[in-house]
Amino acid sequence: MTWLTVALLLSLVYVVVSGSTTRGVQLDSWRQFMTYAKDGFIEPGSVVMQSDRLIAKVKPGTKGFSERFGDEPAPVSVTIAPTAHAKYMEDLDTANVPYRVDMATGALSQVLLTILPTVIVLGLLWLLISRSMRGAGGGPGGMLGGFGRSRHRETNKEGAQATFADVAGIDEAKEEVAEIVEFLKNPKRFQKLGGRIPRGVLLEGPPGCGKTLLAKAIAGEADVPFFSISGSDFVEMFVGVGASRVRDLFKQAKDKAPCIIFLDEIDAVGRRRGGGFSSGGHDEREQTLNAILVEMDGFEASDQVIVIAATNRVDVLDPALTRPGRFDRAVAVQLPDVAGRRQILGVHARKVKMGADVDLDKLARSTPMFSGADLAAIINEAAILATMANKESIEMTDLDEARDKIRWGRAKKSRKIEQQERIATAYHEAGHAVLQMLLPDADPLHKVTIIPRGQAMGVTFSLPEKDRYGYAQRYLSATMRVLCGGRLAEARKTGDISSGAAMDIKMVTTYARAMVLEWGMSEKLGFVRYAGDDSRESFLPDKDYSDDTARMIDEEIRRMAEAAYADAKSMVETNWDKITAVAEALLRLETLQSEEVERLMRGEHVERPTVAQMLAAKPAVPATPPATAGDEPMGGAVPSPA
Ligand code: ADP
Ligand code: ZN
Repeated sequence: MTWLTVALLLSLVYVVVSGSTTRGVQLDSWRQFMTYAKDGFIEPGSVVMQSDRLIAKVKPGTKGFSERFGDEPAPVSVTIAPTAHAKYMEDLDTANVPYRVDMATGALSQVLLTILPTVIVLGLLWLLISRSMRGAGGGPGGMLGGFGRSRHRETNKEGAQATFADVAGIDEAKEEVAEIVEFLKNPKRFQKLGGRIPRGVLLEGPPGCGKTLLAKAIAGEADVPFFSISGSDFVEMFVGVGASRVRDLFKQAKDKAPCIIFLDEIDAVGRRRGGGFSSGGHDEREQTLNAILVEMDGFEASDQVIVIAATNRVDVLDPALTRPGRFDRAVAVQLPDVAGRRQILGVHARKVKMGADVDLDKLARSTPMFSGADLAAIINEAAILATMANKESIEMTDLDEARDKIRWGRAKKSRKIEQQERIATAYHEAGHAVLQMLLPDADPLHKVTIIPRGQAMGVTFSLPEKDRYGYAQRYLSATMRVLCGGRLAEARKTGDISSGAAMDIKMVTTYARAMVLEWGMSEKLGFVRYAGDDSRESFLPDKDYSDDTARMIDEEIRRMAEAAYADAKSMVETNWDKITAVAEALLRLETLQSEEVERLMRGEHVERPTVAQMLAAKPAVPATPPATAGDEPMGGAVPSPA
């Protein structure tokens, strides 16, 4: 409101100033004015030279003025060239006419004259718009942005932009989005090859791992505009506004294609629908979500707009969002491992001055479970600490202090509990990994990590040699023992058991049940199918076997699970030194490849002196190895044998 008032005041000043000084008779030329001056018709002391005109008063009674002004002095003005003041002054001096110079007034009125109408019109418009928005019930959000206009931010090509060089430690995700850059740069090539054009990409992962950064880098690499808007912006809106903002955003984006639309926090609008109860924000969410879906379905093949959405809760998303043609490609952006952390630190260290004693490899090793944002914050914080201490550059002590500050500021858990959990996870995963190595009938081990993924604290990846269409009994019983190994190793180390084995227990039970009910692998129950048409219905009341058989089934399932558990237990006991070696190495290195596990089990020491060396030696990792013996949710059901 204030600047409108200012504008009105200025216009008032203008009227006063211009009224008193520039109104009057406009003389035709400088020559005409000089004639009056030379003939002595000008009032002494009335001549003022302004930047673009000269004003003066003509003596009362002068011919041609007395009719209008009577015996008052008549104001006159003459336009002068703003570049030739020296010449006019010379003329006045020669004619002995005294004068004042007042450049400011002329300039001010000139400026006001040009901008004032614009200012007033804009002010009035603004007043009208803000009125109408309050009238529409906008509440606190009403004053922000235009009514129903998209409140997104656009980054132009010229603006500060990210490139792939700024994104570190998430190479797999980077590879997966590389083709989008190619498509934006080179759509013809894609069309010629008939390749399916990516439309919507879902970046999924914990906060601060670089989803926004990656999306910006795609735009930066392809040199296209970047539109971004956050899902949480929509939620506070009143009904209808979110949807119209979506339409507005997509329309603008299509006009500027090729370009990227980035929808941050998509889960804020894209939650699974029909959750039963309907709250006030529910309708708004639904309308906004529908608008997004409609816009995405409405893309032409020729529209070069890529929509990238980010979420850290992929599990709550409405399935409609992930259908083909929408966000049908999911790219995981995970917490970085030690090598990734080293690279991220490198990227951010470039922006500051590091001292000679700084060891980023060491810092990377001492920051398990830090996100990219956490690491960037360490460097930033260290720079502040160093500056406050008047240092020339950042020293290692600054980085260590910054790390602790960020870790304990960030952690909800105490340091002690976090360390205990890490140890439990390391022994749990080591239990899986060692048994998997020892049991030739199980899938070969691929790698093992204690970096959390999704809900799991750690994962042991295995590498099936081929797609399996069925399961041999030996394979099943080996796998069940591997699954039991996690809990057993964890319990032996910590003297306690945790919920970390829930997924393992579920898998063991599923296998055992299928072996008994479907696959005829129980000697007692024989070559008979007890499951209904669908294994999930096997406990329906209309089971076609007796209560005795039912009891026997339960016993058999239990017996199989217990046999696996007992076998695994004795294996854990006899191989405890191996498990310890692997677990301790995991605590140090976080992720171990199968060759490294093998060497540790032979009693060799695995040392990676520097992360840089490790990077050079690191074999290419297949995109997503299936986790058959991990704690990751795996869809649960056992595929039925052909
Ligand atoms: P997200 O969108 O996943 O929550 P951001 O992309 O907003 O995370 O990350 C926040 C900041 O953290 C980035 O601007 C960047 O400075 C830093 N950062 C996060 N991940 C990375 C990474 N992989 N490489 C480099 N910097 C990163
Ligand atoms: Zn486990």
